[in-house]
Amino acid sequence: MLKNLQKIIDESKSVVFFGGAGISTESGIPDFRSVDGLYNQKYDVPPEKILSHTYFMEETEKFYDFYRDKMIALWAKPNPAHLKLAELEKCGKIRAVITQNIDGLHQQAGSKIVYELHGSVHRNYCMKCGRFFDAQFILNSTGVPKCQCGGTIKPDVVLYEEPLDDKTFTSAERAIMTADTLIVSGTSLTVYPAAGMIRYFQGDNLVLINRDETPADKYANLVIHGKAGEVLGALRAD
Ligand code: NAD
Repeated sequence: MLKNLQKIIDESKSVVFFGGAGISTESGIPDFRSVDGLYNQKYDVPPEKILSHTYFMEETEKFYDFYRDKMIALWAKPNPAHLKLAELEKCGKIRAVITQNIDGLHQQAGSKIVYELHGSVHRNYCMKCGRFFDAQFILNSTGVPKCQCGGTIKPDVVLYEEPLDDKTFTSAERAIMTADTLIVSGTSLTVYPAAGMIRYFQGDNLVLINRDETPADKYANLVIHGKAGEVLGALRAD
């Protein structure tokens, strides 16, 4: 399996990577839908509801209690999956990383071209004056974080009910459309419209590396059921 993957990468001219929460589980950040994921832990209000635009607007303080506790993970470090993808970009193999993650670990690992479809916990902005704040500012705040101008601060994260950023979506779409190999990994492919993006792929090799089965396995040229860090980490990057 790994040999096949290495051969595909060696022979490709333009590889694009599309990933999700499963890429960061080996860094200690839980995903949403695995058995030990956030959606299977017990909360009074389901996480999908807490992470919605409506809940943010109506229950901002409760939103931030959850957000500080579960979504900001500044202690996390890039794992072998993030690191190998950065190396593969450096040696000219990977053209872009498209991620549904909001943790910033790809950039921390050294990847330069990263399209964050769902935004980032590292960017937070005042809804009144537009000033930006980092994640540490949010962690240090209590209750609803406020700007000096009095405005409420909102994470630059795409909440449920909110559209994706147009420019990021279009750039990611273009990268997928012009890739000859698309590696999809660490995603259940159930969060739309992000998950639907892989339909734009017209290249030769669709590779799926995921712990569990996904709806796209049947379309892939190569399916590896395993941990992203172990599989990607074992690749050569030269
Ligand atoms: P998901 O939770 O729906 O699915 C995760 C998938 O990754 C599962 O199919 C699981 O089998 C697989 N997986 C888990 N660990 C793996 C590993 N080590 N190697 C390979 N596969 C592994 O995640 P999703 O599809 O990305 O959708 C969830 C949404 O949640 C995304 O929109 C994302 O924004 C958000 N989210 C982000 C983070 C983060 O930034 N780290 C964490 C949790 C959720």
